[in-house]
Amino acid sequence: MNKIIRRAMGVVALAISLSVAASLPMASPRTAVAGAVSGSYAMADFAHVRKYDAHVHANNPNPAFLEQARADGFELLSINVDYPDFPSLALQHAAALALAAKDPVHFHWATTFSMKGFGTPGWTDRVNAGLARDVSKGALAVKIWKNVGMAERNADGKLIMLDDPGLAPVAERIRALGMALIDHQGEPKNCWLPLDQMTTDNDREYFSRHPEYYMYLHPDQPGYEDLMAARDRFVAAHPRLRFVGAHMASLEYDVDRIAAFLDRFPNATIDMAARMSQVQYQSVRDREKVRNFFIRYQDRVLYGTDLTFGPDAEPAEFRREAHAVWSSDWRYLATGETQRVDMISADVPGLTLPRAVVDKIYYTNAARIFAPPQPAG
Ligand SMILES: [Zn+2]
Repeated sequence: MNKIIRRAMGVVALAISLSVAASLPMASPRTAVAGAVSGSYAMADFAHVRKYDAHVHANNPNPAFLEQARADGFELLSINVDYPDFPSLALQHAAALALAAKDPVHFHWATTFSMKGFGTPGWTDRVNAGLARDVSKGALAVKIWKNVGMAERNADGKLIMLDDPGLAPVAERIRALGMALIDHQGEPKNCWLPLDQMTTDNDREYFSRHPEYYMYLHPDQPGYEDLMAARDRFVAAHPRLRFVGAHMASLEYDVDRIAAFLDRFPNATIDMAARMSQVQYQSVRDREKVRNFFIRYQDRVLYGTDLTFGPDAEPAEFRREAHAVWSSDWRYLATGETQRVDMISADVPGLTLPRAVVDKIYYTNAARIFAPPQPAG
């Protein structure tokens, strides 16, 4: 199928999608493909099935990312983060507003807040006023980053943990404003392991480059289980908050453990951002177990990548990268095709998830969790 036809089909899909409520499952065009397992999608379906990347960072107002998303049938949730390697929060915010103004159907965004001044008079009111302002400008969610629990310290020099009572009024305001909370707690478990025991090359590279975040080198810091426990106490304390555990809630190494987390907290979902190779590491060892996880928790998982379009990125090159990542993930989740994954040095067969499951993980769940906020009071 040539590109022009694919794009035309994308327009048809959009026209259909605008006419149905976001909560209804999307009827996807059926394409007969020789060799495809009945009830599953093929690579040829990629561009025209309605999809949502629930975890990206468009830190550049250039429309290249958005254009690639439209070409590949994606809506985006771009997440502002209080991350020192990113542009300032003001620049991230400005990029989000500019892109949302360009195409509010395909571009959505999540705001965040600075931990600077936490615990001092006025901090809570200032943060909560900022969140209310951001909702009025279209923000669908709020991000709390791993600096909570790993870097930010209170006036006594102690690390501020996610379940610190000082964060509770902010969590309560996020719920009352009708937004979801996206939380990146801790790190992959690999972060606490020596390099040669890590399961994926991307973690090996990241933690080699960021010794400040490589907890194996910092045994004085809270351990992996300390951070998971603080997060669990926080989720338990806010049962009516829509809680999204970014990066598979940092439980990426074991689908059984993710299942236990989701069973325990009905208000929680997870996104898959930047953890696909961790899932693939498990599925090359036990494909049915991983496949069954996605089928059983088909309402609780959001597709996401962590694709980051920085201010200095070359737009055409970034578009190629985004398309390559999205295509590879589709091949793995939706089809039965095998691909080489260098990060785990393995040939990885696809999961051939049923179409209805793919439709939820790739779209319906995100549309529900990140629905335009209705203030809850
Ligand atoms: Zn991210």
